[in-house]
Amino acid sequence: MTTRKPATVAVRTGIESDTQYHAVVPPIYLSTNYGFPAFGEVPNYDYTRSGNPNRNLLEEALSKLECGVGATITNCGTSALNLWVSAFIGPDDIIIAPHDCYGGTYRLFNTRAQKGDFKVLFVDQSDEKAFADALAQKPKLILLETPSNPLVRVIDIEKVCQQAKQIGALVAVDNTFLTPVYQKPLTLGADFVIHSTTKYINGHSDVIGGVVISKDAEHAEKIAWWGNCIGATGTPFDSYMTLRGLRTLPARMRQHEESSQQILNYLLKQELVKVVYHPSLPNHPGHDIAKKQQSGFGSMLSFEVNGSYEQLKLFVSSLELFSLAESLGGVESLICHPATMTHRAMGEKALAEAGVSILLLRVSVGLEDPEDLIADLDQAFNKAKEIR
Ligand SMILES: *Cc1c(COP(=O)(O)O)cnc(C)c1O
Repeated sequence: MTTRKPATVAVRTGIESDTQYHAVVPPIYLSTNYGFPAFGEVPNYDYTRSGNPNRNLLEEALSKLECGVGATITNCGTSALNLWVSAFIGPDDIIIAPHDCYGGTYRLFNTRAQKGDFKVLFVDQSDEKAFADALAQKPKLILLETPSNPLVRVIDIEKVCQQAKQIGALVAVDNTFLTPVYQKPLTLGADFVIHSTTKYINGHSDVIGGVVISKDAEHAEKIAWWGNCIGATGTPFDSYMTLRGLRTLPARMRQHEESSQQILNYLLKQELVKVVYHPSLPNHPGHDIAKKQQSGFGSMLSFEVNGSYEQLKLFVSSLELFSLAESLGGVESLICHPATMTHRAMGEKALAEAGVSILLLRVSVGLEDPEDLIADLDQAFNKAKEIR
């Protein structure tokens, strides 16, 4: 079969697959269970926790887009991460995770490690010495999150995967920020890709979901088995909705990025902005790696306010088109204050170590008209300038 481009895979997977009524769009199968054709004959699907046609279509589409061989859809991104560690790790094993990883990932790994389920090392993966020291402890699993959250730091996937191979460690990349449209970790040597499909993949901020995609068939089977065993799999309705959102992923990602470039150019000229974090900026750490391993820079950006905490608060509350909310990757623009929102569970010390300042704001650029978004930022900055 010819290899199709991502937009074609995203739009066409499952189209015209209905054999009963020839529905163009695949129907939704909400049934929890399926009849056995005859005594002793096992059907393709028997019970929805273990398998469902809607979930399978989404798995097929995401697996193809990431160049994998199999995927398991989970009920959220966190359960995808939990499934991955559950399938591969025991009490004596070590995971290396980024010190600035997604707050929920930090909480999950930290809490389970405290219970004695496994050991975790949170490491600044851009610090070669720190990373080499962690590798010397022979970890079984390595999680990368690149670009990271919220400082969009970039890690060299190919290099880490080569180092991991030498010690027999398996590497997963949390690809939530870029999606397969802009980065394909499995082609760079990673063993797994994990997503919170809640973000860009569904893209409409109305479904919580996740996925683990494997490069190796044996791993894919093991993950699917564990997904059923621990009950981590996603529902048919969520899978239906997420496939519907996925149809437009490449088109959305292009517009998200184009708008974020315009906003970036605007932010760089503001006196109330101290520093802007985005992999497209030539002075951003990891800019060259991003150019090498990504086919786009993505549209998550963050910036530090050059002013007081009061000015930051007034700026944020004056915005009309950026909702003050967690999450990211939806059609609507969002602004987030990591220290009091997404990353508050980390505590002051871990926040400081991860370089997350109290004056940092993270922006998820949505699909509103970029001129309106810039005008909104401008009026909010003007209000904030009036106070100290
Ligand atoms: C949101 C997010 C997660 C967690 O996913 P949920 O669907 O909220 O459970 C994991 N990693 C990253 C990078 C995220 O943005």
